[in-house]
Amino acid sequence: MILERRLAMSAVFNAAQLCQQVRADMVKADAVEKADRSPVTVADFGSQALICQAIREVFPEDIIVAEEDSQALQENPQLMARVTGYVNRFAVGQPSAETVCDWIDQGNGQVGERFWTLDPIDGTKGFLRGDQYAIALALIVDGEVKLGLLGCPNLTQKLDDPRSQPGCLFVAQRGVGTRMLSLDAQSSEEVRISHTTHRFAESVESSHSDLDAHAQIAQQVGIVEPPIRMDSQVKYGVLARGEASVYIRLPNPMTPDYRECIWDHAAGLIVVEEAGGVVTDVDGRKLDFSQGRRMTDNRGILATNGELHSQVLECIRRCG
Ligand code: AMP
Ligand code: MG
Repeated sequence: MILERRLAMSAVFNAAQLCQQVRADMVKADAVEKADRSPVTVADFGSQALICQAIREVFPEDIIVAEEDSQALQENPQLMARVTGYVNRFAVGQPSAETVCDWIDQGNGQVGERFWTLDPIDGTKGFLRGDQYAIALALIVDGEVKLGLLGCPNLTQKLDDPRSQPGCLFVAQRGVGTRMLSLDAQSSEEVRISHTTHRFAESVESSHSDLDAHAQIAQQVGIVEPPIRMDSQVKYGVLARGEASVYIRLPNPMTPDYRECIWDHAAGLIVVEEAGGVVTDVDGRKLDFSQGRRMTDNRGILATNGELHSQVLECIRRCG
């Protein structure tokens, strides 16, 4: 796993630089709407191109299941030119627009025995607001997440500490643990969940979960601190390093049939598990990454420090 870990770390580092550069130069035309009305940006495409290329260079046979494809670029020459420009700044060689599209489309693989899953920017809405987002990459073998990385360019080393610098990378390897590095490569430490923190983490977007039900459950569990609201899988990182004790994602009553995407949770799951926590769906079922792009047999997410897991599941059951 050493080769995989090394290549994944350098690819996510590089993609994080690209994303921050795009965010700094951002113009209105750099974001477009997808068919499901969710936003996608120059940075999502650029990040996917860099990471897919880095994986294929080392493991040409590896399958990648990533969120984006190049179709929107093929239909929008201006967007394609912007993406190609950024990829050229962060990749070796001088890939043409066509090559960049090929790299992006290497992410069109099918779930199998061994595959990578990638969300080039998880929390694009957060990215656009200047809030939290994550570059999320995981390697899954025989249904089990073996390696997971979360690049979190806007997450400070410590929440609520004004002196703390933004830019974290979580790296988790099965059986080895979870480490948090600073994106400037100045620090690296092992992280563990906390048994003394009592705090919920949840999504910023009210349509992505059921914030009212979360508040009821928090009350029943005796959590009085206000919830930490953050976009993306950064929430898993915050739980893994002990700043929250529960990350809850009850399905929104408006979208009860929504099924979670594998790239939205695979990296986060191992970051929390290897830090000593527990991750299931809201019915207490193991997350099943083997069904396809979506976890068709799971509903919502519950990640905790372990200690609170059965208690929160019981509250969820009672709340209906
Ligand atoms: P978060 O910032 O935690 O809300 O996570 C962002 C992710 O939520 C996006 O990557 C989407 O894939 C996902 N998402 C979109 N619609 C829904 C929905 N109705 N319920 C749950 N998650 C959603
Ligand atoms: Mg996502």
